[in-house]
Amino acid sequence: MIKKIEHLGIAVSSIDASLPIFEKLLGKKMYKSEVVESEHVKTAFIALGDSKIELVEATNQASPIAKFLNKNKEGFHHLALDVEDIEYEISRLKKEGFTLIHESPKDGADNKRIAFLHPKSTNGMLIELCEEVH
Ligand code: ZN
Repeated sequence: MIKKIEHLGIAVSSIDASLPIFEKLLGKKMYKSEVVESEHVKTAFIALGDSKIELVEATNQASPIAKFLNKNKEGFHHLALDVEDIEYEISRLKKEGFTLIHESPKDGADNKRIAFLHPKSTNGMLIELCEEVH
């Protein structure tokens, strides 16, 4: 089951530069900043009701965020969905004809197991599945 929007991912060239803007905009402070080595990204999360805003910065040129920012401006990058059982959703979505970037879950930021869908099967939209690790 897909439960809710877990977060919206915003690609930024610098968290140091963008975070104060988002904190001022939302009237809230970041609750966590974390580097995900495997994805070559640094993240910062601001809680917003039941959802979050995730700022994502590249830590090197191999990062998917560096590649994104070579082609696009800073801004909306991905929609993350909170799922109850990520293995089930991966197999359900594969059966529905979607292409997964990660066919099995990997460790993501903020205590999550994650998998991304390939934008070629989602009308260009990058979608992340997240399951909370308890
Ligand atoms: Zn994310």
